[in-house]
Amino acid sequence: MNLAHLLLRQSLLQPESVAVFEGTAPHATFGQWAARAAGLAQRLRGAGLMPGDRVLMFMRNHPRYLELLWGAWWAGLVVVPVNAKLHVREVEWIVANAQARWAFVTQDVAPQALAGLARQVDVASAEADALLAPVPDFMAVPVAAREPGDVAWLFYTSGTTGRPKGVMITQRNLMTMGLTYFVDVDAVTAGDAIVYAAPMSHGAGFYAIPHLMAGARHVVPASGGVDPAELFALGAQLGPLSTFAAPTIVKRLVEHAEQAGLDAAASARSFKTIVYGGAPMYVADIQRALRVMGPRFVQIYGQGETPMVATALARRHLGDTTHPRHAARIASVGVAQTPVQLRIGDAGGRELPTGEVGEVMVRGDSVMAGYWGDPEATAAALRDGWLFTGDVGCVDADGFLTLKDRSKDLIISGGSNIYPREVEEVLLTAPGVAEAAVVGAPDPEWGEVVVAFVVARPGAVLDERQLDAHCLAQMARFKRPKQYRLVSALPKNNYGKVLKTALREQLADPLRWGREHGTPTGAG
Ligand code: AMP
Repeated sequence: MNLAHLLLRQSLLQPESVAVFEGTAPHATFGQWAARAAGLAQRLRGAGLMPGDRVLMFMRNHPRYLELLWGAWWAGLVVVPVNAKLHVREVEWIVANAQARWAFVTQDVAPQALAGLARQVDVASAEADALLAPVPDFMAVPVAAREPGDVAWLFYTSGTTGRPKGVMITQRNLMTMGLTYFVDVDAVTAGDAIVYAAPMSHGAGFYAIPHLMAGARHVVPASGGVDPAELFALGAQLGPLSTFAAPTIVKRLVEHAEQAGLDAAASARSFKTIVYGGAPMYVADIQRALRVMGPRFVQIYGQGETPMVATALARRHLGDTTHPRHAARIASVGVAQTPVQLRIGDAGGRELPTGEVGEVMVRGDSVMAGYWGDPEATAAALRDGWLFTGDVGCVDADGFLTLKDRSKDLIISGGSNIYPREVEEVLLTAPGVAEAAVVGAPDPEWGEVVVAFVVARPGAVLDERQLDAHCLAQMARFKRPKQYRLVSALPKNNYGKVLKTALREQLADPLRWGREHGTPTGAG
């Protein structure tokens, strides 16, 4: 089993069709993609890289990302795509941990040499052109034999609670993820196209696999980033497009559509399907997205340890507004995806009754082989074949999973559990609120108290007393924030996740935090 066969198959079926676009400009046909990937595989082998060796990618989104992934797999290598926003020191730590020998980089992300590598290649250089030069007959370059359990992608966790861990994602995991897309997320045909708006080192990149399986086109925005106007325009020209987006990106698309007066029909010309996940999508936000852009959303919940595959909330469930439990369903992350079993467990992993809150556990062919070089962390996360996700939630009688929070984000105040997400959902329904993040701050009397960081909509002025009255009208007194911090932005990582650790650090030591980070979230 080797993911490189997916490319080989399409390059035989439709060699002349354009497979990859940079903006609206054709970058490669399926035949060219295969010829370049095979060329790269041959040269990587020639340079002494052996199946199982790691190759790092520290790049912004780039059309060559796809050629590098498939070229590396063709040679039987393990890819290590890293978050382009990481600090050089953090990437060097990953280089050392993964024992990566080569890295492919873009100048904007890695202007300097990274320590610990045998070779660093700028993907826009003549050196990269030579490595990726097409071979005349790609069929003559054998695809390396790989076992289903061999690692294909080493995915480094964001490491918000310590050092990142290298998740060993296998060939089988990614094949399963790709096939599952068609059952649980969306149908794809060769006429379709995926656009890479979110970083390809994460969910967006994983979804290259199902789209290659289906022979669809791949579009990398010329800006290499997220520009809603560019995405709508690309969709109108090459689409309708499918895309994977974190909730923050969805929010930007919706805001753009609203401001530009694009209704659901116009949105449908640009976007076929927007798959969202990776962080909580609040009810107020998805309702607005559906209202503005129409029924083109599907939610997935997964994590690096079971990439893109844990649950899905289907288009039909999001759209079934007459269902008696619709309100609860759109606040959920949907039902178990086809290849996995889902369980809510107590601390020992024993199954809890329907409706009870506990740790989300997942078992199936999408679940990682373990953490790279870390048997202790592997033993803690994988027990009897079950992945302990660290997420807390409950499942209803119909199988819909509602996530509460990561266990480490839970607030315990005066002995009562408070799930920040519940408070955030309420704050987001208050007039003038654009974003909200709730964390616990240490408190001598209560253990922890609820603190809300709130961002106003453009032009809106927020008032703490009004926010408090809004919360009091909708939630138990003990859950409501004891403090508000009115801020201009929330700290987020490159994948759109709010960094609650940074908010807690800021509360614990505001002066130090301000010195180290400036005070973008410190005012108020
Ligand atoms: P990562 O490993 O970087 O993909 O992060 C995975 C984590 O993101 C999960 O364990 C969840 O805490 C969170 N997450 C992923 N998808 C969702 C979702 N649809 N809703 C809420 N949180 C999510």
